[in-house]
Amino acid sequence: MATGDVETDSPLPVPDDLDDNGFPTAAATTSSSFADDFYRSGIDWSSLQAPPRHQRETASGTDAKAGGSLVQRSLFQAWGIEKPPREEAAPVVQRSLFQAWGIKKPPPPPPREFRDRSRVSSPSPSSSGALSGKKRRWGRSEENGAPAPRKPIACPFYKKIPGTPFTVDAFRYGAVEGCSAYFLSHFHYDHYGGLTKKWCHGPIYCTALTARLVKMLLAIDSEYICPLELDTEYVIEGVTVTLLEANHCPGAALIHFRLRDGKTYLHTGDFRASKSMQLHPLLQTGRINLLYLDTTYCNPKYKFPPQEDVIDFVVRTAQRYLKKQPKTLIVVGAYSIGKENVYLAISQALEVPIYTDASRRRILHSFGWPNLSKRISSCNQSSLHVLPLASVQHENLKKYLETHNQRFLAVLAFRPTGWTFSEAAGKELDLIKPSSKGSVTIYGVPYSEHSSFTELGDFLKFVRPQKVIPTVNVGNAANRDKMQAYFREWLKGL
Ligand SMILES: [Zn+2]
Repeated sequence: MATGDVETDSPLPVPDDLDDNGFPTAAATTSSSFADDFYRSGIDWSSLQAPPRHQRETASGTDAKAGGSLVQRSLFQAWGIEKPPREEAAPVVQRSLFQAWGIKKPPPPPPREFRDRSRVSSPSPSSSGALSGKKRRWGRSEENGAPAPRKPIACPFYKKIPGTPFTVDAFRYGAVEGCSAYFLSHFHYDHYGGLTKKWCHGPIYCTALTARLVKMLLAIDSEYICPLELDTEYVIEGVTVTLLEANHCPGAALIHFRLRDGKTYLHTGDFRASKSMQLHPLLQTGRINLLYLDTTYCNPKYKFPPQEDVIDFVVRTAQRYLKKQPKTLIVVGAYSIGKENVYLAISQALEVPIYTDASRRRILHSFGWPNLSKRISSCNQSSLHVLPLASVQHENLKKYLETHNQRFLAVLAFRPTGWTFSEAAGKELDLIKPSSKGSVTIYGVPYSEHSSFTELGDFLKFVRPQKVIPTVNVGNAANRDKMQAYFREWLKGL
């Protein structure tokens, strides 16, 4: 796969089967008060609500594809308010996040396009024949007499949105019974895993940027891809859906669902909670009944500084090393998608282009961010290189330096990840000790695109959800209990 070095630091379990409570069987050996809590709530977690009959039937008798009608409106316009600035000023980082990335809102797609997508019964003359038949028969192979597919892996309950025919990040389970719309929160492998060019189980809803990546890197048929604009309400299968910026990797979104009965659910996908997120109109008003939470760092031991502080540290360190040895090659390790701000900030501060390999260049250009695109170079003479995170190790970098020894005499590398950060250095970035061997120096820096424990707490206290469902590190009952205890503590008295 073209995305071999995607983020794998928070894999969701890939269960062979589920217990009666909808958890992976691996966790079924221990009693689960987490599951008990939620089952007692009276919501049918184990099933999805099929779309109304009239939406599924067509003149030709096959199922409709993208479900019901889809309408949209810009929330910020509808509410007659100015869209808030995305993050507070601070030095390099937030500027580069929201300005240097140059995110532009393209004109919203005409609703008509989506409605057409859902009608197999009236293919245009050009799409008659083969295209209107098998390719459009999303996940219903039994209807045309094809052999039944092998038994799919069961989809865990926490990937299904109750009272809707929706799932989120549930692509490895084949056709999920009752699901007619598959949401993808962002383009990291532990979320899109299972999506291949053979995908035929239903429409995939995601941001426009994620849609471009899905199409380009996984070769999914465009017919199945439904890009949605951020901050815009869409009505899908009678449910009002809005995507919000997740402050995670490019294209990542929080997904906000408002059901016909008024119930409101928020799925965070992967996210880094921030103060500016709290300014969003959808989170400022109304109660969230159910919050699906990215609990990657839901443990008090995970403390790390704001992204802008880390970037400031990285830039200062690079400048210091270059002063000592001007022939230093700066290396930043990164997944295919994510950590762009770290090397963008170095590029801006040192006024050097960003060299990386052709496949990453293609991905970065696909974001459509002019201020990033204009800094990307195919010339490896630049003193700033971006390499796959896994290759940022002493032996590799020593060899890498040897291949460039006419140009560089030392390597200074950064591994931006939250996992390796020790509590002792939580407040004092300058206490971080690099690992040095010969002419290679590697810094592990706590640059995280997930919320810290404190940020999770602040977010919960602000959102005040009635219930919280963790979506990461849920394969162990003891872990789930611990997380529920934190949630209760944070929500106490609210
Ligand atoms: Zn992710």
